[in-house]
Amino acid sequence: MKGTVKASLKATVVGGGIGGLTAAIALRRTGHDVTVLERAPELREIGAGLSLAPNAMRALDALGIGERVRKHSAPSEVTGTLRTSSGRFLRRFREGRDEPLAAFHRAELYSALLAELPETLVHTGTEVIDPSEVDADVIVAADGVHSGFRHRLFPAAPEPGFRYTAWRGVTEPGAAPPVRSSFTMGRGAYFMIHPLPGGRACWALGAAESTPGARYPSEHAEVTRRVADWPAETRELVAATGPDAVLHNDILDLDPLPAFTSGRVALLGDAAHAVPPDLGQGACQAIEDAVVLAASLRDHPVPEALAAYDAARRPRAAYVTKQARGKAVADTSSAWWLHALLTVTVPLMPASVIRGQAAPLWDWTPPVL
Ligand SMILES: Cc1cc2nc3c(=O)[nH]c(=O)nc-3n(C[C@H](O)[C@H](O)[C@H](O)COP(=O)(O)OP(=O)(O)OC[C@H]3O[C@@H](n4cnc5c(N)ncnc54)[C@H](O)[C@@H]3O)c2cc1C
Repeated sequence: MKGTVKASLKATVVGGGIGGLTAAIALRRTGHDVTVLERAPELREIGAGLSLAPNAMRALDALGIGERVRKHSAPSEVTGTLRTSSGRFLRRFREGRDEPLAAFHRAELYSALLAELPETLVHTGTEVIDPSEVDADVIVAADGVHSGFRHRLFPAAPEPGFRYTAWRGVTEPGAAPPVRSSFTMGRGAYFMIHPLPGGRACWALGAAESTPGARYPSEHAEVTRRVADWPAETRELVAATGPDAVLHNDILDLDPLPAFTSGRVALLGDAAHAVPPDLGQGACQAIEDAVVLAASLRDHPVPEALAAYDAARRPRAAYVTKQARGKAVADTSSAWWLHALLTVTVPLMPASVIRGQAAPLWDWTPPVL
């Protein structure tokens, strides 16, 4: 280890999303003086669901907050339950064989993270785009997929790329009959369901689209049209979702960057490596980043710590990007032969093969904090 490790650093986190808040929690845990600057006038997450895989839950455990966060989740069997859009089950989740994910309402995961931080530490309505505006030993740029910091530090890096389009919704408590998690494979589209705590469910419809920005007068009506001949549970779930509760977003991702750090700035989360959501790893990777960055800053002086963070995180992010892009192509492909191949091979795949595919993602071990 070169140089000396300064006991307490002044750390500024730009962006109060899941990545930024987790970084703030991790840096506080390792004894630093942290400020979070968020440009939005209020702190909140969107009305949608998301799942955290074992790698992210283990990272939250390393932060000592896993149990408190887990309380807000419901187990999702989505990775073990696959069916076709005609309703034929290709696999069913089996307890003890398949591993559940933790499904959250985003707003509840967000509140659980926020509850771990003193209120005075997060400043809303504060936009930062230039490192020279920030008086800190280290800056964590967790400012999302359209990161201004990334733009400034790596002007030659390509802009986020469009992959496909997706709608999401959450039902109100009791609005739909209880659902089980599932991933439905259509041709050119998928539909994913997670149950949420409190008698709610969240869903996502992903679909191939040639151009970004397509929007519909009623997104709810458009989803209803697209799943008109899909399994009854799918249609019922969409019908049980309020028209205003349907969100429509383009799915964007980033090509791997030449570095995640520059000077005293570390990019983190989507700012560094936005990925398609098909492996449910975007927020998981932001959480991993946060834990690794805090451990590096605990163990090394800032320049060496940021070099260690870059060395640990960039290859992993590149791997996740490659895997998630591949899955995104398969999930939204209209090729009849690919769909036919998957419907034949998925039921034949031994559980060990399926688990083996997830192992590089899910078996990640966080540093001790
Ligand atoms: C359809 C869909 C489904 C998904 N499902 C999953 C899933 O199941 N599991 C999973 O792990 N991931 C999932 N993801 C990915 C996940 O949502 C993201 O990876 C994660 O939310 C990124 O968090 P972040 O904190 O890096 O960025 P963000 O959440 O984008 O936060 C960035 C924050 O920075 C603020 N900001 C921006 N610019 C500035 C500035 N100049 N100054 C100050 N503040 C600024 C923004 O207002 C925002 O609050 C999904 C994504 C999509 C689109």
